[in-house]
Amino acid sequence: MDLADSPEDAEFRARLREWLGKVLPTLPPKPSPDDWPGRRAYDLGWQRTLYDAGYADVHWQATPGVRLIFLEETEKAGAPYVGAGFVGLLHAGPTIAAEGTAGQRARWLPPILRGEEVWCQGFSEPDAGSDLAALRTRAWRDGDDYVVSGSKIWTSHAEVADWCELLVRTDPGAPKHKGITWLAMPMDTPGITVRPLRTLAGSAEFAEVFLDEVRVPVTHRVGEENDGWRVTMVTLSFERGTAFVGEVVACRRVLGELAVAARRNGRWDDPVLRRRLGALNAEFRALWRLTQWNVSAAEAQGGLPGVGGSVFKLRYSQARQELYDTAADVLGDESLDADRPWVHDRLSSLSYTIAAGTSQIQRNIVAERILGLPKGR
Ligand SMILES: Cc1cc2nc3c(=O)[nH]c(=O)nc-3n(C[C@H](O)[C@H](O)[C@H](O)COP(=O)(O)OP(=O)(O)OC[C@H]3O[C@@H](n4cnc5c(N)ncnc54)[C@H](O)[C@@H]3O)c2cc1C
Repeated sequence: MDLADSPEDAEFRARLREWLGKVLPTLPPKPSPDDWPGRRAYDLGWQRTLYDAGYADVHWQATPGVRLIFLEETEKAGAPYVGAGFVGLLHAGPTIAAEGTAGQRARWLPPILRGEEVWCQGFSEPDAGSDLAALRTRAWRDGDDYVVSGSKIWTSHAEVADWCELLVRTDPGAPKHKGITWLAMPMDTPGITVRPLRTLAGSAEFAEVFLDEVRVPVTHRVGEENDGWRVTMVTLSFERGTAFVGEVVACRRVLGELAVAARRNGRWDDPVLRRRLGALNAEFRALWRLTQWNVSAAEAQGGLPGVGGSVFKLRYSQARQELYDTAADVLGDESLDADRPWVHDRLSSLSYTIAAGTSQIQRNIVAERILGLPKGR
């Protein structure tokens, strides 16, 4: 794999940098982490700005080089993150692009790209997190609709979402992986109750979602009835394989800020601390190279990321926690300043080894599907 920019890549990078330099100073201030309607408007506004400038679909269409350059340059410049657009842009949208009908792609993909509609993910349930195929939310056919009853938990962005990628059990008699169906559910349908959950970091970024005889048209089914597990694997391959890659660049930026802070406050003289910063720098550089490899490999196999994403997810989520622990050591009391994001970011880093599949589950995947070790049970 050639890691250097091609002449076209270099030109794309230069054009993007120039555009970011012009547009970023004109953006309004970011809303507070607790202001979900404000965050939704801000994040969708940024997506619209990207759309108008021709950058909206870089995650989907562009060559791997262009996609990674986009992530690298936007993060380096401190551009807004996808935020409320996370599910739609980074895994529901790509799943619909890969598995939806032409009509479904035409209905759902353009509003995601234009920053008009927010998606959430209704996969996890009480007792069906790591063991996702144990989900119990039921759906049965009634004419042209599925009627859905049950509950979901940890649904990020549910409060402000327009659509939900929803997993339901359509054949309770079948073996557990075989009776599941993937539906797109409009979040304003009667029968849906969203109850926000407050996290350790203080914000209510996810929610419980209760479903009481919610009617979802059969035309909103992606893939065949009872073939939802296969479609889910496509969604998870995007979620674990490519959805977090831009954040590696953000971590490298934070690491740079810590080195500057350590020089300023005298901590740089501590060789143990310098070694920690050096080790993290090496880790994030390696993760970025792994990302380049994963994204190129995905391209070579028809656009679907492979199980290499589990190696990335495992190491990245741990390195992120080490980064924010190190930040607390470097900054001391400064890291507790309520006006700066350090406390929030350190607390929320704890969730990364759980969200999108825990570290233990990623280790199982690496052991069984990459190393070919026998199944534990
Ligand atoms: C910030 C955040 C956002 C999230 N957003 C969403 C969302 O938008 N939509 C959604 O559907 N879900 C979401 N989730 C849920 C997330 O996917 C689940 O929390 C995760 O899959 C773990 O499931 P669980 O919480 O039920 O834990 P459990 O499955 O109960 O696991 C508990 C512990 O047991 C371990 N364990 C379980 N099974 C095994 C095994 N076979 N081998 C080894 N160890 C095992 C786990 O690793 C873990 O340490 C989110 C979670 C977080 C933290």
